[in-house]
Amino acid sequence: MKIAIVGSGYVGLVTGGCLADFGHDVTCIDKDEDKIEALERGEIPIYEPGLAELVKANVAAGRLAFTTQLAGAVAAAQVVFIAVGTPSRRGDGHADLRYVRDAAREVAEAVSGFTVVATKSTVPVGTGDEVAQIIATTNPSADVAVVANPEFLREGAAIDDFKRPDRIVVGIEDERARSVISAVYRPLYLNKSPLMFTNRRTAELIKYGANAFLAMKITFINEMADLCEAAGGNVQEVARGMGLDNRIGGKFLHAGPGFGGSCFPKDTLALIKIGQDLGSPMRLVETTVSINEQRKRAMSRKVVAACGGEVRGKTIGVLGLTFKPNTDDMRAAPSLDIIGGLLDQGARIVAYDPYGMAAARGLIDTVEYVSNAYAVADNADALVLVTEWDEFRSLDLARIKTAMKAPVLVDLRNVYSHDEVTRHGFAYFSVGRPAGA
Ligand code: NAD
Repeated sequence: MKIAIVGSGYVGLVTGGCLADFGHDVTCIDKDEDKIEALERGEIPIYEPGLAELVKANVAAGRLAFTTQLAGAVAAAQVVFIAVGTPSRRGDGHADLRYVRDAAREVAEAVSGFTVVATKSTVPVGTGDEVAQIIATTNPSADVAVVANPEFLREGAAIDDFKRPDRIVVGIEDERARSVISAVYRPLYLNKSPLMFTNRRTAELIKYGANAFLAMKITFINEMADLCEAAGGNVQEVARGMGLDNRIGGKFLHAGPGFGGSCFPKDTLALIKIGQDLGSPMRLVETTVSINEQRKRAMSRKVVAACGGEVRGKTIGVLGLTFKPNTDDMRAAPSLDIIGGLLDQGARIVAYDPYGMAAARGLIDTVEYVSNAYAVADNADALVLVTEWDEFRSLDLARIKTAMKAPVLVDLRNVYSHDEVTRHGFAYFSVGRPAGA
């Protein structure tokens, strides 16, 4: 099938690479000329494991191309995916739909013959109706079926998630779209991924429901971690004991510094706004967001406490900046709040992240960036492990201790065990675990 993808970011590029790998003929479109030029040179503008190889192989096979010229690619396509950003609107948290609306107008002007326009971007309920309206108004002769096809991939595991999804949700209002979308995803049937057809509004709600629920689950275990600290329990064992219940499941029960990233923070805010606008408040989600906001700053106070209540003039080393490992995405990373809190308290920050530093430099320039974990430890008064990259999981603790001014390790991901770290002479602080865990 001939497929065009509008927006070649984390979702668009992975979608394009994977659909080309399935054998489709895919063109990825982006307005960002630098991005497209880089892709044409064979450079991948983001870090996502396996993506460079996937893109290279499919470009070489002639199934994947890149362009800034939307019109030609859309005119030739049977299916057009919209995968542009839907960030939080400044001020009220509503999803900013300007990129989706612009894309809809541009697609409307270019379509030729019956075309399925599928929105992969995460959009508020009713956006599919609006996209259909925009297309009908811009080009009354366009023969288009607008579909909601929310994307559930996770950065860091995006290719596997795309190729082996738990489900593919497709919201349709025009029956003609059913066979077209089925054909797009047919190669996945080998993996037995269920294709769930529903109506457009329901599909839009499923995406926000899923993200908000996962954000709530993380926040729940984070509060349990605080309770464990107060009561003397071990949150890892609480999570394991809870997660072994099939009704609960063990995933997204890892206590940490609070959720961040390009999706949960903005999608929870958008769902809150949708609920308020429709007079059906999402109170659990409102509380989740408020707890999470407080938690991120509270993590900097945890570091201050670990340093004896004062960090002014002290050097704090930060290991990991991205919101999770295996991505270079710094959007709404908890590290930003934690570092902000520590800078406000007068600390000097030295940081290292395997792939996040280029993006981090654009967000915080008052940090000294170094090239490895041991350079972070050099003369530091405390080390804070913020993102659990593999390379931070088995650090040479003896070497780290020798390099540091004071051996204090604040492990916000519970990567290490108390005994192991204290045996090396560190003062060790983790999340929701008593001394000895
Ligand atoms: P992104 O910012 O990485 O990419 C969006 C791209 O769209 C940018 O490169 C931008 O230049 C381009 N763009 C914007 N308007 C355009 C237009 N009119 N024509 C051509 N290109 C245009 O965003 P992302 O992380 O890929 O997210 C895209 C959507 O997918 C969002 O709605 C997001 O919520 C959703 N989503 C993201 C993830 C994720 O993990 N990143 C997962 C699931 C869903």
